Amino acid sequence: MVGHGRDVDVVVVGGGIGGLANALALTLKGLRVRVLEQAHEFGEVGAGLQIAPNCTRILDRWGLLDEVTSLGVLPESIVMRDAIDGEVLTRLDLRDVERRYGFPYMVIHRSDLHGTLLRACRGAGVDLVNDVAVTGYEQAADGAVAVHAGGRERGAVVMAADGLRSVARRLLSDDEPVSSAYVAYRGAVPFEQVARLDVQPKDVVVHVGPRCHFVQYALRHGEMFNQVAVFESPKALAGEEEWGTPDELDAAFTATSEQVRAGLPLMWRDRWWRMFDRDPIDDWVRGRIALTGDAAHPPLQYLAQGAVMAIEDAWVLSEHVARLTGAAGVDWDGALAAYNAVRPLHCRRVLTTARAWGKLWHHDGEKREWRNAVLRARDVHDYTYVDWLFGPTALTPGELPPMFSGYDGEPVLA
Ligand SMILES: Cc1cc2nc3c(=O)[nH]c(=O)nc-3n(C[C@H](O)[C@H](O)[C@H](O)COP(=O)(O)OP(=O)(O)OC[C@H]3O[C@@H](n4cnc5c(N)ncnc54)[C@H](O)[C@@H]3O)c2cc1C
Repeated sequence: MVGHGRDVDVVVVGGGIGGLANALALTLKGLRVRVLEQAHEFGEVGAGLQIAPNCTRILDRWGLLDEVTSLGVLPESIVMRDAIDGEVLTRLDLRDVERRYGFPYMVIHRSDLHGTLLRACRGAGVDLVNDVAVTGYEQAADGAVAVHAGGRERGAVVMAADGLRSVARRLLSDDEPVSSAYVAYRGAVPFEQVARLDVQPKDVVVHVGPRCHFVQYALRHGEMFNQVAVFESPKALAGEEEWGTPDELDAAFTATSEQVRAGLPLMWRDRWWRMFDRDPIDDWVRGRIALTGDAAHPPLQYLAQGAVMAIEDAWVLSEHVARLTGAAGVDWDGALAAYNAVRPLHCRRVLTTARAWGKLWHHDGEKREWRNAVLRARDVHDYTYVDWLFGPTALTPGELPPMFSGYDGEPVLA
């Protein structure tokens, strides 16, 4: 009947950053957790990830901040430049960000963050199982079951962290991933390969341009350099099946600055990531099955909060579990309701703002001029754009900070 041995309290489906974060957070509250991952090994793609103070604050609570800091880089600034003429448009002073929010803004190799979570899960006693693809879910008396070809896994709760194309999400919504027609190329290379280029190793640099942008930052104590090239695919807009191909990468950046074009030959050209998100949904819980991470809220990446939101989900649920644990065990229905009351509200804000942010970054012509004027006018120490994101993660709707408002990505042109 059951696939993998002793009974557990929680079954987590998916061993990405979201699944491992949930497994760790709940194990640290004294629960027995099993992770089911379809891949043969646990791992992550070898590119970079930005993690903001609302994530490093939680990693600190889990005792992992020193380890991730030793593996990552603490950049000095995020610099936004116009991708056509190279003009610096605005800057976020990350030393000041750390003072303001109490925790650092970090960039880290994805496999280093994932590896840290994996080691912590192993150390805490999480049962980590590979080669299990979950195909269905069932409610059970006082619990739920994840079904797979080799058997059934029962827990008081099943947390579905099965990513953008989540099977579990079908229990809650018949929506599909939404294509943005944008595609991302990545490339993380030894720093020597960019040493002669005009790069800023101490900053995260985002070059924003018409229908494209380019991100650069150093990783692993400056030993590696990470670049992300994102553009709108004409083939996608034309409805072609094969879209986002390397010829489109080359064409998308022809009009960009020397600094951008010099970095492009270093992108990996054998793999690319089509950028999908989903419309926000406000209910992530069905009985004892709950969504988390990209399964619940896959964003477009313009706020760099996808993995961060997954880690916040894990922390919020585990705090409610701890609060609602008594002599009779965990009040799971209460904990899931508390989680479901606050996380969808926050993540809806992130998903919709990320879409607006993408519009802002990719303007052309008159709108580009407007965008540049808005960004130039921003005071370096104006934090209204990020206060709602970087502060402490809300545990209840009442704790959600006021939302930065008045901007939907479109200019008001005369
Ligand atoms: C170009 C790009 C840049 C990004 N940059 C950032 C950034 O700077 N900062 C940030 O916070 N986020 C960033 N993100 C987003 C971030 O990568 C994701 O939001 C995050 O990795 C989601 O983690 P997850 O664990 O929820 O999902 P996933 O990483 O998709 O993991 C899902 C896991 O579930 C497994 N799985 C799926 N189906 C099943 C099944 N049926 N049974 C068993 N296992 C299953 C998969 O194999 C996988 O291991 C970026 C994304 C992209 C594409």
